[in-house]
Parts: sequence; structure tokens; C-alpha cells
Amino acid sequence: MVHATTLKIMRSTMMDLPLQVSRILEHGATVHGGSTVVSWTGGEPRRLPYAQVGAQAAQLAHALRHDLGVTGDQRIGTFMWNNAEHLVAYLAVPSMGAVLHTLNIRLFPEQLAYVANHAEDRVIIVDSTLVPLLAKVLPQMSTVEHVVLVGGADPAPLMAAGPHLSVHHWDDLLRGKPTRYDWPEVDESDAAALCYTSGTTGNPKGVAYSHRSIWLHSMQVCMREAFGLGPQSTALVIVPMFHAMAWGLPYAAFMSGASLVMPDRFLQAEPIAAMIATERPTLAGAVPTIWTDLLSYLDRNEVDTSTLKEAIVGGSACPPALMHAFSERHGVEIIHAWGMTEMSPLGSVSRPPIGVAGQEAWDYRYTQGRIPAGVAARIIGPDGQPAPADGEAVGELEVRGPWVTSRYVGDDEPDAEKFRDGWLRTGDVGTLSPDGYLTLTDRAKDVIKSGGEWISSVELENALMAHPAVLEACVVGVPDDRWGERPLATVVLKEGVSATVTELWDFLAGRAARWQLPERWSFIEAVPKTSVGKFDKKEVRARYAAGAIDVVLV
Ligand code: ADP
Repeated sequence: MVHATTLKIMRSTMMDLPLQVSRILEHGATVHGGSTVVSWTGGEPRRLPYAQVGAQAAQLAHALRHDLGVTGDQRIGTFMWNNAEHLVAYLAVPSMGAVLHTLNIRLFPEQLAYVANHAEDRVIIVDSTLVPLLAKVLPQMSTVEHVVLVGGADPAPLMAAGPHLSVHHWDDLLRGKPTRYDWPEVDESDAAALCYTSGTTGNPKGVAYSHRSIWLHSMQVCMREAFGLGPQSTALVIVPMFHAMAWGLPYAAFMSGASLVMPDRFLQAEPIAAMIATERPTLAGAVPTIWTDLLSYLDRNEVDTSTLKEAIVGGSACPPALMHAFSERHGVEIIHAWGMTEMSPLGSVSRPPIGVAGQEAWDYRYTQGRIPAGVAARIIGPDGQPAPADGEAVGELEVRGPWVTSRYVGDDEPDAEKFRDGWLRTGDVGTLSPDGYLTLTDRAKDVIKSGGEWISSVELENALMAHPAVLEACVVGVPDDRWGERPLATVVLKEGVSATVTELWDFLAGRAARWQLPERWSFIEAVPKTSVGKFDKKEVRARYAAGAIDVVLV
């Protein structure tokens, strides 16, 4: 018989080494010192081995500490593309105990000023090509004292922002600084980085990641069931470092020795294709719209994509047609993933169970993926109660876990709209299967409520985007006298092809229930996108309400 007190005295005897970002930095710079980060320039790409990234990180930390007087957990903003210097800042700032704040350069100017002021950014590091954009909002950023300019742009527009500002050149600051830094020991629950949501409703909200959450999240990213990063990998990071921490790829790469290819500002299909052909990445990550553009390019041009085995697609639902096209025409397997800024951001990754093949495997791949061990997930039904994970019951997804935020920055209490009993309410609606796969049918605010039934806008979009003439399809709910709401289908056709509304309606009729088929249709030039490249459904609804969309009725 086991005595109860025996159990009580059996405590863990493990050491407690804090999980801090500086250990990721030191590990990458030494053990994986030969792995490289390539920054695209439009001309000769710049290559920096991780040993040099580590040396520059130490130099940057010395400069921030001794020249700019950065202490404690002061916030250092970055206003940058994906490139080596941004990687250096990612590593140096948290390692020295300060907090990295990645500013989303695509936010509206008022929102940019709002987040910089809210975070109380003291320093901003800016890429030369982004000087004009930053200069416009800098006068409204009231806490910024120093701007560090990377590259050779004229600093005058920055200086004009105010007499209280000093502008420094990255190279001048780093020159002659020691290439080692005695990184302080931090409490692993201290904030390391800060990222704001894109604020599609109201002001952006800040999420502060801890050293510990970054560590655990990076390990998850490296796992084979997630992105499977290791020294054998080269990751092309198209998802911006200013959006949801580039899905954790920079830290995971430094931790695992994976090399990085960074596109800087070259995000169009042609340079991306050139990066794939010449830098030979094994993996890439981007939102669906980037892959849609790249697909049209690859279909029209001969490009060697042979090394690119896997493309991670997330941020919004990936149309199955896109997955098939990449796999069947270009040998690239699209791996669907789901996450949120509030989750560091990785939630689920869609890899089929071992031993499953054919259409069954595809069916798994269409889902948003499998929830990892580090995340607990549940579905809350319309009655507000947890619903079974049976692949059938539909409801709002809630999650909790060590890399899920428990409240927004500056809030004393968790915001009741987003948090419930220690769970994050994702605002995403869908099902969970008994084997842990998540299928999202919509965002709660985009579900179309027609006569008491729910129509999934995403399902209609996916079905439409399987039509050979359709480049993009965005479906939103619009007011309807009889049904409350009905779907409006807005469609962008591929270049040089045509299709009629009747044709598309017939096509959809074979793929969706009759009562779900839209009566309202519109051909549009382009789907409006949010600052992070998602369909901006709020904008589509607003344009419809303003009568700015020409509608054809069927
Ligand atoms: P925002 O778009 O508000 O800036 P995020 O980029 O953090 O914030 O977006 C998170 C949201 O993006 C999720 O809650 C979900 O609605 C959507 N999303 C992310 N990945 C997927 C996916 N694979 N399928 C469907 N929706 C997704």
C-alpha cells in the first residue's frame, strides 16, 4: 500500500535554469554559428552567419544600454521588414532585459501612434526604406526619444519630427562595441516582447510574451508535428516579423539551427519565386493571399521549387483548391496552420495521422489542424456550456496554455469579452474532433445568420475558389428583409478568363446546400485586405451598405 505522506515528500529535484531569450541567442550564435540569415536586397543578397548575428546582438545591447541609456523593461520598437537587423533586435532586446515591440507598419497612422504611446516606446529602430512612413507618425509618438536608422537613408525627415529626438545610425552605434554581453538573469515570467493585434474592431490590443512563453512556443514550433525545424532546414519567412512574431520562426530557427531567408520589402510573387529558386528554402510561411499570387506566377513561369517541400499557410483559412494546386502542379505540400497573436501565435498545425492516405489524408489537411499538448482547447456551444469534441458540435473555440495570453497589456482584469474563467475566447467558430483536429467554419463575427441557421462564409469561399476562373472569393453576410442576413458573394476573376454569375451559381450549387447559395453576386477588382493581408470583411460589408458594390441578383 502506498502511504499518502510518501507521495507528499516526493518532490521534483530538477534544477531551475530560467527559460530566457538570451539562452536561445547564445545557443544559436555558438552551436549553430554557421547557420545563416539571408536578407533579400533586390541585388546581391546579404548573408550573415548566426555567429555574427550573436556578435551584433551584443553590440546592439551595449549601444542601447550605454549610448541610449536603456534600462529595465523599457520598450524598444521596431519599424522594420524581415531582415538580419530585425533578427538582431529580436534577440538583443529581450536578452538585455528590455522589451521588443514590433510595430505593424501597415496600421493606420493613428493606430501606429496609439500603439507606440500605449507601449511607451522609448526607442524605435527603423529601416531606411520605411523612413518616410515613420516620419509621418513620429511627431505623434510622444514617448520616443531615440530613433536608430538602419541603412543609408537621409535622417532629416526623422529629425524634423521634433527637437527632443536624437537620430542614430545603426552602423555608427555598433562600431567598436564589444561582441560579447554579460546577459542579465531575468525572471522567466518577465515580458520579453510585445505585439498588438491589428485592431479590426476598436483600438489594437497589446499582448506581452514572456521569456518562458517564447521558449516553450519556440520548442513547439520546432516539433515535427508543428513546423519541424532543425539544422537541416532553411525557412523562408514571408509572414512579417511585425505580425504575430512571424509565427515564432525567428526564435525557433535560432534555437534549432535552421537557416533563415528574409524577403525584406520584396513581397511580390516574382522576387519570392527568385528567393525560392536561388536560396533553396525547405520551408516557407505566409498568409493565403501570398500563396495565391505565387501560384499564378509559378503557373506562368518556369521556377525551380524543388527544395521547397512544405509551405505553412495560416492567418486565414486556406482554400483546399490552393493546397491541391501546389501539391499537384509544383510538388509543394501546403501545411495548414491556425493561430492568433494572443497565442504567440501557434495553435494548431494540420498534419494527417500516420498511416492515413488518399482523400482521407486530404480531409485532415483541410482542417485547421491538431491541437498540441501545450494548448488546452474546448468548444462552447450556443447554450454557453462546453460541447463535446465529437467533430460535430459547433461552437466558439476557447483555449488556454503557457503561451496563451491571460489578459491584454494595461488591463487590470481580463477583458470579459475575450476571457472567460481563465480561457481565451478565440472568436473562432468550429468543431473539435475526438483526435484533436480543429475545423473552423468562421469567425464568430463573420458567420452569416440566415433565418435562424448559420451559413459558413469560409465554406462558400473555399467552394468558389475551386472554380478555375476564380482568383479570390469573399463572402459576407448582408441584411435581408426576409431572412435577417443572406450571403453576398464578391468574386475576383483570374486575369484573361471570364465566367458568368449563373455559371458560378451552378458550380456552387454542386458544392453547397441550396438554401445557402447567395442570391447577391458581384465581380470586383480586388478583395480589400487588412493590414496583415486578410480579407477585410468589415470593409466589404461597409462598401455594400454604402451602395458602392454593383450587385447582380440571381
Ligand atoms: P488579427 O487578424 O485580429 O490581427 P491575428 O492575426 O492574430 O489577429 O488573427 C487571428 C485570427 O486569424 C484567428 O482568430 C482566426 O480567426 C484567423 N485565422 C488564423 N489562422 C487561420 C486559419 N488557418 N483558418 C481560419 N482562420 C484563421
